[in-house]
Amino acid sequence: MSDVRNVIIIGSGPAGYTAALYTARASLKPLVFEGAVTAGGALMNTTEVENFPGFQTGIMGPELMDNMRAQAERFGAELIPDDIVSVDLTGEIKTVTDTAGTVHRAKAVIVATGSQHRKLGLPNEDALSGRGVSWCATCDGFFFREHDIAVIGGGDTAMEEATFLSRFAKSVTIVHRRDTLRASKAMQERAFADPKIRFIWDSEVAEVQGESKLSGLKLRNVKTGELSDLAVSGLFIAIGHDPRTELFKGQLELDGEGYLKVEAPSTRTNVTGVFAAGDVVDHTYRQAITAAGTGCSAALDAERYLASLS
Ligand code: FAD
Repeated sequence: MSDVRNVIIIGSGPAGYTAALYTARASLKPLVFEGAVTAGGALMNTTEVENFPGFQTGIMGPELMDNMRAQAERFGAELIPDDIVSVDLTGEIKTVTDTAGTVHRAKAVIVATGSQHRKLGLPNEDALSGRGVSWCATCDGFFFREHDIAVIGGGDTAMEEATFLSRFAKSVTIVHRRDTLRASKAMQERAFADPKIRFIWDSEVAEVQGESKLSGLKLRNVKTGELSDLAVSGLFIAIGHDPRTELFKGQLELDGEGYLKVEAPSTRTNVTGVFAAGDVVDHTYRQAITAAGTGCSAALDAERYLASLS
C-alpha cells in the first residue's frame, strides 16, 4: 500500500494530461495512470491535427500528445504507462489498483479515460485511419473538399456527420444496414433534403480498400448478399462510441448511454472527491480542445476540493 497522494489521474489523453499539468503546477504532485497500450489517448492514432489552437500549420497527433506529456512532466507529474484495473472510490481515501496488483491511495481522483469509437472490425480499417478513414467529421471534414465520401450509420451522429460533410464534399453516400433510419425525424429530413446526399440501404461494408490511402469500398447487400463497389476517397464511420466506464459501474453515476455524469458546469461526479473530464463525460463535442478544457476544470475543481479538506 502506497502513501496517500493528493490526486490520482486515470487516463492520458488531452483531458488527463491537461489535468496533470494544472495539478502539477499547483504543487499537488499528481500520479497519472496513462494506460498500458494507448498512452497518449485517441490522438496517438491520427495524423495531422489542424484544429488544436496554437499550431498555425497543424501538428501530428502523436507529437501533440508527446508535447502535452512532457509539459506535465516538466512540472512534476509522475506518469505511469499502466492500466488501472479496479477502483474503490467510496471512502474519503480513494484506492486504485494497477495491473501488478499494487494499490495506490489518494484524496482525490480525476477520471479521464475517454471513449472508444466503434469500429467496423475490418482489415485495413485501422491502417487507413487518417488516410481516408475517419471517425470525426468536425476533425477531418476539411481535408475532403470535393471528394466523394461514404458515411456509415443510420443514427443522429451519421446524419449530422453527413450533413456537415456535404458542405465540403462532392458527394456523400450514407450506407445503412437497414431500410429505415434510427435518427430523429428532423435529422432525417435535413439529410433527405440535401442534394449532395444519397442513400444505399440494406448494405454493410465488406471491404475497406486501398494501399497507402483509401481507394474505395466493397459493399454487401444484407438481404441479397450481392456485392458492389463504391468508389470513395473518404470513409466516415458513425456507428457509435463506447465510453470507458466499465471500472466505475456501481460506484459512479452513469447516464443512459454509459457516460459518467457530472454536476455541469463543474466536473464533480456524484462521489465527493472524484472528478471526471473529457470524452468519458462528453457525447456532444468530443474534441481534443474540449477534453483539454474540461481536464483543466477537473484539476481546478480537485485543487479547491483538496484545499477545503485542510
Ligand atoms: P482519450 O484521448 O481517449 O484518452 C483516454 C486515455 O485514457 C487513453 O490514453 C487510455 O489509455 C486511458 N485509459 C483508459 N482506461 C484506462 C485505465 N483503466 N487505466 C489507465 N488509463 C486508461 N479531436 C480534435 O480536436 N481534432 C482532431 O483532429 C481529432 N482527430 C481525431 C482522430 C481520430 C482518429 C480520433 C479517434 C479522434 C480524433 N479527435 C480529434 C477526437 C479527440 O482525439 C478526442 O476528443 C480526445 O482525444 C478525447 O480526449 P480524452 O482525454 O477525453 O480521451
